[in-house]
Amino acid sequence: MSGLQPARGTHDLIGEEARRHAHVVDTARRVTATYGYEEWATPIFEDTRVFSRTLGDTSDVVTKEMYTFEDRGGESLTLRPEGTAAICRALVTNGLTQTLPQKVFYNGPMFRYERPQKGRFRQFHQIGAEYLGTSDPTSDAETIAMGYAILRALGLTDSVTLEINTLGDVESRTVWREALVGYFRAHRDALSSESRDRLEANPLRILDSKSEQDRALLEDAPAFGDYLNGESKRFWDGLRRGLAAFGVPFVENPRIVRGLDYYSHTAFEFTTDKLGAQGTVLAGGRYEGLVSEMGGPATPAIGWAGGIERLALLLDETPAQDHGIIVIPMGDDMLNAAIRVAQSLREVGLRVEMEMRGSVKKRMERAVKSGASYVVLLGDDELARGNVQLRELATRAQREVAIPELPRVLTSGI
Ligand code: ATP
Ligand code: MG
Repeated sequence: MSGLQPARGTHDLIGEEARRHAHVVDTARRVTATYGYEEWATPIFEDTRVFSRTLGDTSDVVTKEMYTFEDRGGESLTLRPEGTAAICRALVTNGLTQTLPQKVFYNGPMFRYERPQKGRFRQFHQIGAEYLGTSDPTSDAETIAMGYAILRALGLTDSVTLEINTLGDVESRTVWREALVGYFRAHRDALSSESRDRLEANPLRILDSKSEQDRALLEDAPAFGDYLNGESKRFWDGLRRGLAAFGVPFVENPRIVRGLDYYSHTAFEFTTDKLGAQGTVLAGGRYEGLVSEMGGPATPAIGWAGGIERLALLLDETPAQDHGIIVIPMGDDMLNAAIRVAQSLREVGLRVEMEMRGSVKKRMERAVKSGASYVVLLGDDELARGNVQLRELATRAQREVAIPELPRVLTSGI
């Protein structure tokens, strides 16, 4: 079994990368809790219909990117490509559609068959939030402000720009869509071949195209802003007023349409120019109809998802690591006392390891090399007095401390 590699587009999280990843998740969990969110975890695979019904039969995710397989019982299952559909499924199957609103935070691996590159993987990880059962623009502004607060807590607000757009309601979109299809038909030959296919199936996706050819044509396409009806305008104004009230800076970008097909009104992306083509780090919008696709009542909602790998790449550094404490028994007789001391320190939340191999000199050398902050030395004489030696490695300052005092001394800083 030589030469085995991780599957293409997957990666291990180890060392600094694992710490960055955990830091993103911990920060998001902490900040979303301050907005009243609760964490849910749904399965990593679902009945394929959870995604095929909701993402739309023509979306790139459903047509090209899903990991779908038949299990031994003949069920069609799919590794989740995103979190929103699964959260909506969970809302319905857990009978929670009558207890709205629900504010849900989630995180975990997602799977999409894509061409791997920097910031783009086949197994990647997302943090996400869904605010279900709410239909006013202030909720959208608050949900976006929560995303912004996470980026701020990660120290990233200087690296990202919030771009917002409105997709209006169905009525506005239908009228605009007709104008758009008319425009693209008139310029059919100038479209990329991929976009020519989208023209009949899903013309709005052309707006999201990454091809130079299409982007040039988009300059003069009918602007949705000119097609908004009264209700859509009211919502769009409310969103922008709300963002201002929450103190979240934004720019308007009519090209933001979102990759998935179930959005209305609000669409937004936090983008950066530091990650090349993979510039979107956290994105989302308002959606309707997802919960009803799962067999529940019509439930308006707003949500977003952030790419943990991309956020982790942007982080300057993870918070200084706690280098901890090494407990060293000077001889085998002191082993039980060393264990008791180590456990008492772990119980107050300190990071503690024991060095028990080799000579006392070797134990000490390894402790110094480990980068630990303190060493607790257990020797005969001190133990007889109920004490230990506490040495700060940086300064080499050493003093005798009574064992019961040790947790307090080490947690309050010396
Ligand atoms: P993109 O346009 O980059 O393909 P998307 O519109 O498909 O993004 P969403 O479905 O909105 O992405 O997912 C939310 C976030 O998840 C993205 O903004 C990005 O940060 C991250 N993401 C999406 N796909 C991948 C991937 N294959 N690898 C790593 N991160 C990803
Ligand atoms: Mg994509």
